[in-house]
Amino acid sequence: MNRGVHILGMVFLTIALLIPSNGCGVNNSSSIKKLECHSSNLVHQDIPGTPNIRLRASRCDDYTFKSKQVAVVLHMFVSEYSRVFGVSELVLWDYLSGLEIEVSAIPKVVSSAFDVKGNPVRDVPVSGLAISPKKIWVEIKTSQIWSSSLVHELVHTIIWNKNAGIHADPDHEGDQFSGWSSKHTQFIRDLNRTLLDKEI
Ligand SMILES: [Zn+2]
Repeated sequence: MNRGVHILGMVFLTIALLIPSNGCGVNNSSSIKKLECHSSNLVHQDIPGTPNIRLRASRCDDYTFKSKQVAVVLHMFVSEYSRVFGVSELVLWDYLSGLEIEVSAIPKVVSSAFDVKGNPVRDVPVSGLAISPKKIWVEIKTSQIWSSSLVHELVHTIIWNKNAGIHADPDHEGDQFSGWSSKHTQFIRDLNRTLLDKEI
């Protein structure tokens, strides 16, 4: 969530959005869709095969993820988190149940946040936010989900629900809040690498 990562993300987005979505020799594994206000029945989408998890675009003239691709990511997240951290999949699905995932290609700026090492940062563009135990916001950076903060925000969601809604460990590996360890940071890196390999 630091400025360097954000700017890199914007470069990716610009390149990804300039590539036409059809034609020879282009990437056909896009995980995003462009919405138009006059025909935006995809602003709200249910994620299939999940406990009432929903996807919502911030605007009717924005981009959104494909719900089936998000479903794949959620199932991989639950399976891998269960394996790595020894938590049952049923418990993890309970934490995630009813989650609203708001997405937008337009970044947000927040007045204060923490970087992954727990250092406070001010007026920083963020690529994702954990807003409440049942709501996250994720910036769409490229045509694939691995480059977004979705997995990172899902880790915040697990921590926030696990500690009964007290906090989502906003300072990550910092020591003001508990829950997030370097193992969580590595987990996010590994899962996003797997998603990259699968072109999701
Ligand atoms: Zn975070």
